[in-house]
Amino acid sequence: MSRPTPSAAEVVASLSLAEKASLLSGADFWNTQGIERDGEPQVSSILLTDGPHGLRKQTGGVDHLGLGDSVPATCFPPAVAMGSSFDADLVARVATAIAAEAHQEGVAVVLGPGINLKRSPLCGRNFEYFSEDPLLSGLLGTAYVEALQAAGVGASLKHFAVNNQEHERLRVSAEVDERTLRELYLRSFERVVRRAKPWTVMCSYNRINGVHASQDPWLLTEVLRGEWGFDGLVVSDWGAVVDRVAGVAAGLDLEMPACGGITDAEVVAAVEQGRLDEQFVDRAAERVVALVQRAAAARDASPATSEDWVERHHALAREAAARCVVLLRNEPADGAPLLPLQPGARVAVIGDMAVDPRYQGAGSSRINPTRIDNARDALVAALGSEQVTSAGNDRVGAARVAAAADVAVVFLGLPPEAESEGFDRSHIDLPPEHLALLDAVLDVQPRTVVVLSNGGVVALPFAERVPAIVEGWVLGQAGGSALADVLTGAVNPSGRLAETIPLRLADTPAFLDFGGERLRVRHGEGVFVGYRWYDARDMPVRYPFGHGLSYTTFDYAGLRIDVEGDEVVVRAEVTNTGPVDGREVVQAYVGLADSHLARPPREFAGVAVVEVPAGGTVPVEIRIARDDLARWFAGLGWRIEAGEYDVHLGASSRDLRLHGSMAIQAEPIAEPLHLESTVAEVLANPVAGPLVAAGLAEFEGASGEVEDVEGMAQMMLQFPIGRVVKMSGGMVAAEDVMALLEAANAETGP
Ligand code: BGC
Repeated sequence: MSRPTPSAAEVVASLSLAEKASLLSGADFWNTQGIERDGEPQVSSILLTDGPHGLRKQTGGVDHLGLGDSVPATCFPPAVAMGSSFDADLVARVATAIAAEAHQEGVAVVLGPGINLKRSPLCGRNFEYFSEDPLLSGLLGTAYVEALQAAGVGASLKHFAVNNQEHERLRVSAEVDERTLRELYLRSFERVVRRAKPWTVMCSYNRINGVHASQDPWLLTEVLRGEWGFDGLVVSDWGAVVDRVAGVAAGLDLEMPACGGITDAEVVAAVEQGRLDEQFVDRAAERVVALVQRAAAARDASPATSEDWVERHHALAREAAARCVVLLRNEPADGAPLLPLQPGARVAVIGDMAVDPRYQGAGSSRINPTRIDNARDALVAALGSEQVTSAGNDRVGAARVAAAADVAVVFLGLPPEAESEGFDRSHIDLPPEHLALLDAVLDVQPRTVVVLSNGGVVALPFAERVPAIVEGWVLGQAGGSALADVLTGAVNPSGRLAETIPLRLADTPAFLDFGGERLRVRHGEGVFVGYRWYDARDMPVRYPFGHGLSYTTFDYAGLRIDVEGDEVVVRAEVTNTGPVDGREVVQAYVGLADSHLARPPREFAGVAVVEVPAGGTVPVEIRIARDDLARWFAGLGWRIEAGEYDVHLGASSRDLRLHGSMAIQAEPIAEPLHLESTVAEVLANPVAGPLVAAGLAEFEGASGEVEDVEGMAQMMLQFPIGRVVKMSGGMVAAEDVMALLEAANAETGP
């Protein structure tokens, strides 16, 4: 009979302090430290690699910049594209495929998904993140982690937290108020941690309100474990550790990459000198051992990856990419919309990017793809070589080819050097030579389609001048074929913007603060990030959050809203009123006009992705967890405000089709009373209110004739009660009032 596996605690109990400390940093760039005694493995080592949209397992030189080679792997659409699918099932299928490749390569943990919020279009790493909305990021992140881990490979949810810019990412302090932190920047992490239980969370490089994430006990222990129940391991981003001893005490379990023994020795010395409680070392070591054990068990339980994975995964990458393409505009040109391309039309494919596609971003997530499709060849394959001509970025050649065709498809975008992990953009413009190329084509060919390839959003000054615009993001290795599928109508587009495309950079919420000054970046816009900002300020945008067209049209009808247990269920029917089958991304938005907090008019609250055959009607159902209606009240925590909430179903955040409302019952939100509470606040309190009202009536009676009684009363309401007490000239004792307030707090408090 084999011996039962000892628990992580038992293993750690058998180790020396030096051995335990050695577990807390990597063995090299990608592997954790193992421990052997007398040739017998005590703790095995496991392999962690990037992520997130495919596998970057390095075999030769190692780096975290995406420079060195890695084994060929399927390059699936990066998160910017997958975000536009709004589709958790699709994300799950891709994550399952990534897990299969990881499993085959002996990888225990994939370093992803990245779910940081897109605070500004300038962030150089936006291509690696899903959305400007925390719920959408949370839904897709949850799907990714659940699927990856169900297939036996651990996830590393990153970058925790508030890593929303690349500029000075190792030193900058994100200065954010707690409500904004909780509702925006931590909320997607909270969702994924609570629902999908990632094996690991990766702390970010930056500081948050002055404290490095890698040594922040509030973030890594109080919130992550205490409040959200995280039971996995916290790993540092590569090189994020500043003070290792402080990190161990704060809850940073594993430092990556290897530290050459330096910080291990620091940890040992700190324990020996009484500066670090050994139980913190035990705690971290146990989490490393538990992760290793978890990985071993999952590896043993996972089936081998079938041999035809290269083909199968490429096909999935193509299907996924096509579902991420967003048709931004499709106006009639000579009567009919330009897209899909009409059978028999002579098509001029223009621009270098049609042949040499930009399909992923630069940095640690750079995958070595198993193959690369390009749109020109895919269009030739779909339409036939006699129908397709092509030209590169040369304006003269492009114009000649465009003029001779029935329609021009012009590929524009950001070149690889324009955006990357490690630095931010300073503008959101397309390269001038791309804009000039488009002008040259438009001069001779009004029937022009623009196809964009970009990781972060770009300004589209030409939007009203071209009949059709396709946002192709960076779509992974099969993006070229996927674009051809959408252009020809083989796939009816259903992608939706997971981030607003602004009219200009100066309109964006973080415009004044982004990047920061003297290593501090103030989040001056607070909770008003993305569409929350544009909607609250009623500003025009180029294309709103949630926008995306189809080759068919949909009607919405029959809105019903029911509160069922701890969920609000929104139901309706969607009819495909056009000529072709299509997929509709039905979005729910919820708002509370009469709120105690500053809120945007509506916030994204859920989504249903439905396939609707031409002429058909299908039911849709969106379930909104009651908890998702909670907002952060500083000093009180999460609270749901009672009230009449607006509920909208729409095809985008600004194409709202159905409107209803729902009454949400909740405990009144009782702010704790103190002597600085205003008379109005005290009067509003169900316990203290009636007593104080009676007392005030006496006080007013005693104060003689007042001419403007109403005005006086108004002024009085704004006075802190303690000041009124003082002004009463001894009629009331402050202690008596305080006792009354405390009694009220005890009865109505949280
Ligand atoms: C990135 C992480 C990545 C790590 C390892 C860091 O520079 O921020 O996202 O997982 O390197 O390559």
